[in-house]
Amino acid sequence: MATTQEPKEIAQASGSVIKQMSINNHEQVVFCNDNETGLKAIIAIHNTVLGPALGGTRMWAYNNEAEALNDVLRLSRGMTYKAAISGLNLGGGKAVIIGDSKKIKSEPLMRRFGKFVNSLGGKYITAEDVGIGTKDMEYVKMETNHVTGIPESMGGSGDPSPVTAYGVYMGMKASAKFAYGSDSLEGKKIFVQGIGNVGENLVKYLVNEGAKVTIFDIHEEKLIECAKNTGAIVFKGNDVYEADMDIYAPCALGATVNSDSIAKLKCSIIAGAANNQLEDELVHGNMLLEKGIVWAPDFLINAGGLINVYSELHGYNREVAMSNAQKIYDLTSSILRTAQDESITTIVAAKNIAEKRIAEIGKIKLSF
Ligand code: NAD
Repeated sequence: MATTQEPKEIAQASGSVIKQMSINNHEQVVFCNDNETGLKAIIAIHNTVLGPALGGTRMWAYNNEAEALNDVLRLSRGMTYKAAISGLNLGGGKAVIIGDSKKIKSEPLMRRFGKFVNSLGGKYITAEDVGIGTKDMEYVKMETNHVTGIPESMGGSGDPSPVTAYGVYMGMKASAKFAYGSDSLEGKKIFVQGIGNVGENLVKYLVNEGAKVTIFDIHEEKLIECAKNTGAIVFKGNDVYEADMDIYAPCALGATVNSDSIAKLKCSIIAGAANNQLEDELVHGNMLLEKGIVWAPDFLINAGGLINVYSELHGYNREVAMSNAQKIYDLTSSILRTAQDESITTIVAAKNIAEKRIAEIGKIKLSF
């Protein structure tokens, strides 16, 4: 029997969530729970003006629910910008599953999550993110068609990470051209933080081009394996941000570009795969501008994975996906130039383009 206390608590909780949603105008947030499988997930849909909200599912051992909610709200908003700036007819969404993927991830849990995705009727389409692989998407696919990034053996596009890494590489080269006058990365000291699915693929491109690559990851085994496979140097110091580097490539989690790290960084370029690299877009965007560090907007240069899964929705072709990811080079060049010409931060320059597209399409839709 419900106590009189319950409705009040629920009202308070939902009140604060809706308040958080209203800050960046999120459309919908869905909380998912299943005691049998241990599934605790949040799906956030930020904006569907351009199309269904597509964004990966992240599995992470968040310290608490507030942290998970904050992450999914930030990530889903980033997806709106990523799709818009890449010219894709997609909205922005993201999901997080709370828990350690190595401990609680299972087929029943992923299939239960798939049922929740299905219940949204295509308004949200999922894919992989940190802690989630193509095998997991296979389980999700058993319960819903609103999933991308499924294995090639099932007619999908497989792991999007190699295409993401290629796009980051293109964005980094365009940033080098802007900062140094040449896009060659040969001899450049590049620090890759996070040697996961994207990081390791990026390291391969960089080493192939003759860059001096240093790597760091909290998983020591992975780090040693990557160094062995690629010839990159393992970072041995105490503080990543004090390392000697020309280019910093954050490829782990977000918010690593903050007041503390910016004060220490001696690089001239930041270009990496991690989402939401700037802890605070305004404050840290401006700090980078003042310090003369070129920051390649994350949602622009890491869009290769989204470009890849988008093409899965329209009949997958890896060559087309790679060629579309290559366009990140020209777009990055254009945004860096605009930011310089208008004396604005690169994040503002990039967001302006994305917001303009959403506003224009929004007007067309409203006129029907
Ligand atoms: P992943 O889980 O395969 O790799 C992340 C790696 O970062 C792991 O090896 C982990 O051990 C490491 N890591 C975590 N915290 C760290 C820390 N403090 N210092 C050093 N290493 C740390 O994930 P991924 O798919 O390679 O994605 C990496 C980043 O790129 C994420 O922010 C993700 O959201 C973003 N991204 C990925 C894709 C994609 O296609 N996979 C697309 C766009 C953006």
